Amino acid sequence: MTMKTRFAPSPTGLLHIGGARTALFSWLHAKKNNGTFVLRIEDTDLERSTPESVAAILEGMQWLGLDYDEGPYYQTQRFDRYEEIIQQLLDQGDAYYCYCSKEEIDALREQQMANKEKPRYNGKCRDSAAEQEGMNRVVRFRNPEAGEVVLDDLVKGKIVVANKELDDLIIARTDGSPTYNLTVVVDDMDMGITDVIRGDDHVNNTPRQMNILKALDAELPRYAHLPMILGDDGARLSKRHGAVGVMQFRDDGYLPEALLNYIVRLGWSYGDQEVFTLEQMIELFDISKVNVSASAFNTEKLTWLNHQYIMNSEPELVAEHLEWHMQQRGIDAATQGPALVDIVIAQRERSKTLVEMADASVYFYQDFNEYDEKAAKKNFKQGTDEVLQALLDAFKSVSEWQGSDLHDIVLQTAEQLELKLGKVAQPLRVAVCGTGMSPSIDVTLALLGRDKTLSRIQQAIDYIKENKY
Ligand code: GLU
Repeated sequence: MTMKTRFAPSPTGLLHIGGARTALFSWLHAKKNNGTFVLRIEDTDLERSTPESVAAILEGMQWLGLDYDEGPYYQTQRFDRYEEIIQQLLDQGDAYYCYCSKEEIDALREQQMANKEKPRYNGKCRDSAAEQEGMNRVVRFRNPEAGEVVLDDLVKGKIVVANKELDDLIIARTDGSPTYNLTVVVDDMDMGITDVIRGDDHVNNTPRQMNILKALDAELPRYAHLPMILGDDGARLSKRHGAVGVMQFRDDGYLPEALLNYIVRLGWSYGDQEVFTLEQMIELFDISKVNVSASAFNTEKLTWLNHQYIMNSEPELVAEHLEWHMQQRGIDAATQGPALVDIVIAQRERSKTLVEMADASVYFYQDFNEYDEKAAKKNFKQGTDEVLQALLDAFKSVSEWQGSDLHDIVLQTAEQLELKLGKVAQPLRVAVCGTGMSPSIDVTLALLGRDKTLSRIQQAIDYIKENKY
């Protein structure tokens, strides 16, 4: 049978790191085993599910490159099927109507708590089968009383739960709507899911779901429950740690490949290897090697990885992502200046994120009329206008605008004026970039091109004169 995994988010918020890891592990497990990966949107909670959240999940999956072979399926389109199965379970005697009121259930719970017992349904309606018309009723699954459920979890190992520990859970509410445990079971069965990979907040549901599957004569899937992710301070990962949606990582200048590489190491390792290509991840990933204990999110490490990816990925790929960041700054690289690939090559050593790279590259595209205050103070002095004038005259006579020739001109000008190279190159840099930081001066000038270089040197000369340095 083909292996089939699924990612089944509830669309009640953004796609967070935890969800992205569940999706990635399910995706990798399917890819590794030539299986199928399904996306299923669990949107039956009509009050908490929103179309914005669905859109955010789809956008996050797409940005990460986690493509699905089937879906997205939407549970809200399958209510008829859930109703059918609830009826089947009722007909088989594996489910029953429960007429206990909310007040009764609350009182029962209170009493059990007072007796230090685990709150559970007492089975009052389990055998008093007479249907009562016009009363509020829910449907409960008739959980077996004897025996046990054995779960061979691919991550956590063997978990045995006695059936008497499990009460009869509600599978349809008073309005007839199905509950989570029912819909998941029906979908996993109908969709032929062979491997369920999900967060370990669901591990308590699993024995109940297995019992329902057995009642439906369905094949049981394998299960893998992933330990939770903690923040660097050891507390459960939350907004406080910057645990935002994955798209925030795009906004902050991370490459999706770097984020995936980071996420794959949250709970899984292969020796002490840190950097994995996607192909390597697929080849080496092994769900049974996922760590049982929680893993911690570490932003510094993610940033380190991001820098590795920026430096070592194909510059064309990095440029595609940089384009988005430049657009956010109102820059259309195709019409305003040098090719982004060349920017990537010039800036990648010094940029840990694409935000840093984009911020440090704006001057290649946009003119400016203000200078970084510190850089101007340090480099624009009395007489600097003459240095710049000498450079301008020399640059004007250049026939072919290329890095090595431009570098020679800067050198020769320094020699002629009997100045150290820095006393010429640095004022030039501030003149053409507006700041004291840029790639090497020959690369900077070559990228800027002749027109921008000449007009900006002239602008700086005027500025220095005007401000009477
Ligand atoms: N919809 C559930 C959630 O988002 C996941 C259900 C599952 O994976 O079985 O927590």
